Amino acid sequence: MQTAWKEYQDQNEKRFLDEMLELLRIPSVSAKSEHKDDMRRCADLVRQRLLDSGCDKAEVMETAGHPVVFGEKIIDPAKPTVLVYGHYDVQPAEPLELWHSGPFEPVIKDGKVFARGSADDKGQFYMHVKALETMVRTNSLETNIKFLIEGEEEVGSPNLGSFVGAHKDLLKADVILISDSSMLSMENPSLDVGVRGLSYIEIEVTGPNRDLHSGTYGGGVGNPITILCKMIASLHDENNHITIPGFYSDVVEATPEERALMGRAPYDETEYKSELGVKELWGEKGYTTNERTGIRPTIEVNGIWGGYTGEGAKTVLPSKATAKISARLVPNQSSHTITEMLLSHLRSIAPASVTVNAFEHHGGEPYMTPIDSKGYQAASKAVQTTFGKVPIPVRGGGSIPICSILERELGTKIIFMGFGLDNDNLHSPNEKYNIENYYKGIETIPYFHRFFAQQ
Ligand SMILES: [Zn+2]
Repeated sequence: MQTAWKEYQDQNEKRFLDEMLELLRIPSVSAKSEHKDDMRRCADLVRQRLLDSGCDKAEVMETAGHPVVFGEKIIDPAKPTVLVYGHYDVQPAEPLELWHSGPFEPVIKDGKVFARGSADDKGQFYMHVKALETMVRTNSLETNIKFLIEGEEEVGSPNLGSFVGAHKDLLKADVILISDSSMLSMENPSLDVGVRGLSYIEIEVTGPNRDLHSGTYGGGVGNPITILCKMIASLHDENNHITIPGFYSDVVEATPEERALMGRAPYDETEYKSELGVKELWGEKGYTTNERTGIRPTIEVNGIWGGYTGEGAKTVLPSKATAKISARLVPNQSSHTITEMLLSHLRSIAPASVTVNAFEHHGGEPYMTPIDSKGYQAASKAVQTTFGKVPIPVRGGGSIPICSILERELGTKIIFMGFGLDNDNLHSPNEKYNIENYYKGIETIPYFHRFFAQQ
């Protein structure tokens, strides 16, 4: 049977790739209203491809925001059901000038597809669509499959919770499978056993009621940019430990065993630094880089602006300064609690010379999958079958806010089976997905279904 899968995939690999490229050509940027029609066009194409690939039924379903695509192939209600979650929306492509080629004109170079959404998440969820096709066309599907492909992941899935809540029967499954993350490398495959949560806020600091002449007023009136920078700088101490009182209270420390297991993941600091173009790494004292990006919570400034940013010089003391700030959270931190903590802390440390307007953007809870669950075991065996190595369980640094919502609403465990790489430039210019990884994912996924069905 394995030979049949591989044979089918080899015969169709060109089309499998072309279909992914077709999806990548649609600029489905959920954050921008000008792409509303592209979002719809993309959802329609996903629906059509689900039908072409073997789903009995597929529809574009409305939400209060961008639509959700649902599809299913039910072979026998008595058999286990796998719900595949993914998203067809992408991050904005800006800054465009840093792209080597158009973000929505996919280019293949050195075995990689360069385009926004190639790894996050069109190329990855589409592996499941082609895996379905493989199993259907070779008469070897052993599970029921449902697809939930949403269009608002990159803006925090504001409408998915209510959608899932309203369609619990439709989405009922025995396990949820997600490919929206990365693995360590092709030589050292890994499976994420958790993702970090997120709190995201914006803060606007206002000083004088208008932009002032920096010669006439400078020195006598607080500069909102300087003040905001000081406030932000104070969020970390000299050990890069976060200074907000209570921030770490709910953090469950990883056990020494877990840290040892994580420590087995290969890591070359010199290569890591040179790949990023930095001379020195940065982070919380007492933790390795893998730990800092996996088991520890963080605070990052995502954007900051104010004053004059045009060409040439303009001597101005600005009225306002603004920053977008996010925190990555680990079990058992609560997104709501940390958001409130962040907002009230920033308000409390602002000097009286400015006023602060701070508010929440979106958040998500951290999530963990037990490695002794049936789903994890099936995924581990599947990866072992096609990569020839038992995958290393790792905690992913990113966030998939929908995880805790899906588990809460559907009562089902989530398995992360990401085939991307950390250097795929997710959310950055020149996002790419290696074609080898795409094909390897399509090859591996059918084994997950088989092993899951056999348990
Ligand atoms: Zn994603």
